[in-house]
Order: sequence, then C-alpha cells, then structure tokens
Amino acid sequence: MTKDNSVNRLTVILAVLAALAIVVTGLLGAAPARAATVTKPVTVSLTFDDGNADQMQAAQALQQNGLTGTFYIITGYLNAPGYMQQSDLATLAAAGNEIGGHSVTHPDMSALSQPEAQRQACQSRATLSSWGYTVRSFAYPFAESTTKTRDAVRACGYTSARGLGDVRTPYDCTGCVTAETLPPRNAMLTRAPSQVEANWTLADLQQQVTQAKTDRGGWVQLTFHHISDDATLDPTTSPALFAQFAQWLAAYSADPANATTVKTVGDAVGTPVQPVVQSPVPGPAAPGVNAVQNPSFQTTSTTSPSGQKCWQYGGYGSNTAAFSTVTPGRTGTTTKATSLTVSDYVDGDAKWLPTFDLGDCAPTVVPGHTYSLREYYKANTVTQFTVYLRDSSTGSWHYWTSSPWYASAATWTQAVWTTDQIPAGFDGLAFGLNLFSNGTLTTDDVAAYDTAGAPPLATTTTTTNSATTPAKTSSSVSRIAPAVDALTVRSRAVLGQLDTSGMPGQLDAPSTPGQPGAPTQPGQIAR
Ligand SMILES: [Zn+2]
Repeated sequence: MTKDNSVNRLTVILAVLAALAIVVTGLLGAAPARAATVTKPVTVSLTFDDGNADQMQAAQALQQNGLTGTFYIITGYLNAPGYMQQSDLATLAAAGNEIGGHSVTHPDMSALSQPEAQRQACQSRATLSSWGYTVRSFAYPFAESTTKTRDAVRACGYTSARGLGDVRTPYDCTGCVTAETLPPRNAMLTRAPSQVEANWTLADLQQQVTQAKTDRGGWVQLTFHHISDDATLDPTTSPALFAQFAQWLAAYSADPANATTVKTVGDAVGTPVQPVVQSPVPGPAAPGVNAVQNPSFQTTSTTSPSGQKCWQYGGYGSNTAAFSTVTPGRTGTTTKATSLTVSDYVDGDAKWLPTFDLGDCAPTVVPGHTYSLREYYKANTVTQFTVYLRDSSTGSWHYWTSSPWYASAATWTQAVWTTDQIPAGFDGLAFGLNLFSNGTLTTDDVAAYDTAGAPPLATTTTTTNSATTPAKTSSSVSRIAPAVDALTVRSRAVLGQLDTSGMPGQLDAPSTPGQPGAPTQPGQIAR
C-alpha cells in the first residue's frame, strides 16, 4: 500500500474543479442531457509482477484473445526455479507484451539508500535493455516508495512506476478513485487497485473495469502475481479464471460502445523511450579494511527482514532453521552475536549471510583477487563457509563454493579461509558459516579482506585450513533465488527466509567434497 498525503490535496482540487465546471457550464449554457452521451474512455492495463514462471499461462490466454500485458521482471531471479527463463521474455515480447522492471533483487526500495535504490532500478532496466527489450515501465517491490525512490527510478529512464492500493476495489480503498487519470497525476507513482487476490471472482475483475466506465473513465491497472491453481502460491489467480476474464475483456473492449482499450503500461502512458542509464557498484574496500558491513551485528534495522542491518537469513533444503541474536557477543557484555539452530535436518543448510544487494551491504570484490574470510563461531557440530558471488553484468547472485569443514567448538574460535581468485564477470561477495546438520551455531565478528594488505591473524585463536586442506573450488556457478512473493507484510516475512523455501536441492548443489549435504569423511574436518 502506498500512502500519500496528496490524496487529500487531490480531493480539494477536484472539489474546486467541480465548482469551476458548474460555473463554466452555466456560462456556456450547455445542456445537462449531453453529459449522458459523452464517452468516458477507459484504458485497461494487465500487469504481472515478479516474473513467476506460471504467468506464461496468462501470456497464452492474452495471445488467444488478442490482448497484451506488462510483465514486471525481477531480473536477478530469472532462470531460478519457479521463475521465468530468459527465453520466456523473448516469447512475451514477440507476442507484443511489454517487459518492465521490478528491481534486481526485490528489496523494499523505500528503505534503501538513494544510490542503492538507483542501482536496483537502473541495473534492472540496463539488463533488460541489453537483451533487446524496450523498457519503459517500473513497479515498486512491495509497492513501497518514497520521494527519493521515485527520483531514483525516474533517473534510470523509466517513464512510469506503479504503486498499489490507491484505487477502489470490492475489498479495500472504498473511498478511493475508480481509476487513475491519463496522463497519470504522478507518473512515478501511478495509482492502481490492490493486487488481485486469490478470492477475487470474475465479477470482481469485471467490476474494476465497469466501475471506471460508469464513473469518470480513466486508467485501470490490474496486478496479478501467480497464475496457478496451487493455493500455496499467494496471491494466485486460477488459469481458468484468468482465461475467462481475458475472454470477457477482449469482447468488452471490442464493443465501441464501451470505449475501452487494453494497452500495455508503456503505451498507456505514452512517454517516449528514454536513454539507458548505467549504475556502477561502489568500489572495493581499501587494503586492510574489512569489507563486511555491520560485521559484529551491533546495528539493528526495522527494514531488514532479519532485523539486522545488512544481514539476511539464508538456507535451502529440508530443515527447520531458527535465527536469532544473543547477548553478549564475543567481546564486551552488551554486544550481540547471531545464533542459528537447525532441527529436523534432512538436507540443505542454513546460515546468516550479508544481504544480497548491489553494493550497500554486500562487499564489492575484484576478479582475480583472493579474499581472506574470517568469522568467529561457537558450535556443537561442524560448520563451513558458503560463498556466493554477484554477476557484474546483471547484479544477480549465484552460489560459488564452500570451504572445508570446521570442527565444533565450545569457546569462540576463528574460522579463516582464503578463497580462490574471484572469477571474471563477478563483482560482489557474500559468505557465512552454515549449519548442515542439526545443531546450534553462534557467530560474531565477520570479516573479508583482500589478501593483499589483509591484517595478520591472531594465531592463538585461529583455525586455518586452506593451506593444508585441498579445498577445490567449484568451477560452476549455480543460481540462488530467494523466495520472493507478493506485497503483503505476511510475505515479507517469507522474504526474510530468503532461499529457505521452495527450492530444495536446487541451490548449492554439492559438487566438491566438504560441501553442505555431502557426507564426507571426518578427515575433512578442518583444524
Ligand atoms: Zn513483487
């Protein structure tokens, strides 16, 4: 939901305009009877958020009915399980659909710094544009934005950006307008009804169009997420219902008496295509400087789903992971550390990770350089570093490799591992100690240094391994995809779970000894 004080201002403006209209009408002596015959054109845009793979069913229904829609893509999740393949975008575009931006990693952009918000917006547009698509339209993840967010999106060359929850529906916003205007009052925060929920009926969908028609006309943007009969996908619209609606809308808009046109968002707004804007990531940390943000978990955040600034929950597979912070941390009495307990373990892993972002949280790294990863831990079972990389051309995150194991430790012990050279084509790093069995792990004081200039280790408390344990790094980089969903507080909690849900066995595929889930010999415990 977007809240905007300007709604009240608009009411005042409309009241003034209405009064003015009465005066003008009186002056011109226009016959009131003519008003009934004045057409109030309606433009309908069908929009689809997140690039869920099941939306291709909607695309088929659109094509069968001669309609087109706008598909807002999370570029960093393309090709991940449950999401569209890059090739699907070509199918959509060939059928006349619009490809729009929905950020790279689907953060709440209202909570980001201005540069990070701009990277999320610009990188998504630059990526889609580099694949040959004309990208004009944006939709805010969670429909959240501030004035700064909107400025960032505009600066990237988007010609419109969609909010949600500012137009009347059968279920909410009952005092709201029945449609956005064209051109929109604020192109960087266009007004749309709340997302279509699973309980919406055909009549509900039709009413969004017809209520605008019988009121003042205008622009109606409908927002769909999943097109599926799987009720666990929330929110979802059944393919049968969507097909019914598409058929109805095609017939309705074909009747000139209804003065209704179905257009993509970009065509409805009609602003010419703007140049592509690049958004470089921040430079790497200087030699000897720890590149990890909030390394000792001292900074909380109400906008980070984990509650910790620049940290997220990670994991995958079948297990139950409980994340928390504990006091004290490794040093001091009021400090904090993170805690993780895994139960019901079948496969996969769980871990705290730096937030997969475009530079505010995740360290920037340089291809060809190696990095010294350091993290203090206590654990009643083995642990290991899992390491992820950010693709420098798209901003998407991928599993890279895992370290050898570190033994359980009753007192604070430092795990240290040196990575291989960062491969070409990657510019960001995220890593963390994990659990890949039942147990409890406490961690604190995380660091990543370029090995050139890294401070010496405190040998009395250090566990080192890379020099003695053959730790072959994986040459294949596989995809990680956080579970991302709709625009509710409820699903934001899901986002906090990150890659824990819905993708068992798809991520972190063990390919080298000592990786999570790979039952290897005790001799591989490092220390
Ligand atoms: Zn979304």
